[in-house]
Parts: sequence; structure tokens; C-alpha cells
Amino acid sequence: MTKDTEARVACPFCGGEASTEVDDEDFDVARGICKDCGACGPFVDLSDYPTTAAARDAAGTAWDSRAAPATTLDTIGSQFGNGGGFDPGADGEAA
Ligand SMILES: [Zn+2]
Repeated sequence: MTKDTEARVACPFCGGEASTEVDDEDFDVARGICKDCGACGPFVDLSDYPTTAAARDAAGTAWDSRAAPATTLDTIGSQFGNGGGFDPGADGEAA
């Protein structure tokens, strides 16, 4: 398992720092991965690339270029007519 140090687009789930890693022990894939929450993907098959480095580059590019989430909490709120606000309240639970 190897990891790169190149900065990637932030994680779409937690906003955390992302990287890429190569798993040539279990699955023979490269993938983007969030260092904070562990979200990962897309997976790139190492056998599709001439070198491990090329596969890791492809996985990093795929992580950076994936589509943005279509729905956010604000758009969900606006669909339910509360003006798009999301108020978690002082205790962290939705009001
Ligand atoms: Zn994350």
C-alpha cells in the first residue's frame, strides 16, 4: 500500500483532505481516498495502466474530476419550503 502526497480536491462528504493510494496487496487497484472519513473511489484497475504510478495518477484525476453532489442540505430545505436554511439548533439536533 502506497500513498501519494499530492493535494486533491476536498472530500465531498466531510470536506476533509484527500489523497490517492494503491492497494496492490488485496485488490490491485488505485483509488482516491479521504484521509479523514475514509471515503474512497473511483477505483482504477492497475492492470489497465502500464505502471502503478500511471494508475495512481488516473485515480487522482478521477477523484478530482468527479461530479459535484446534486443535492445539498440547502436545496433539500428549499424543496420543503423553509427557505433553504438548515438550523441544527444549539444541541446539534434539527429544530
Ligand atoms: Zn471525507
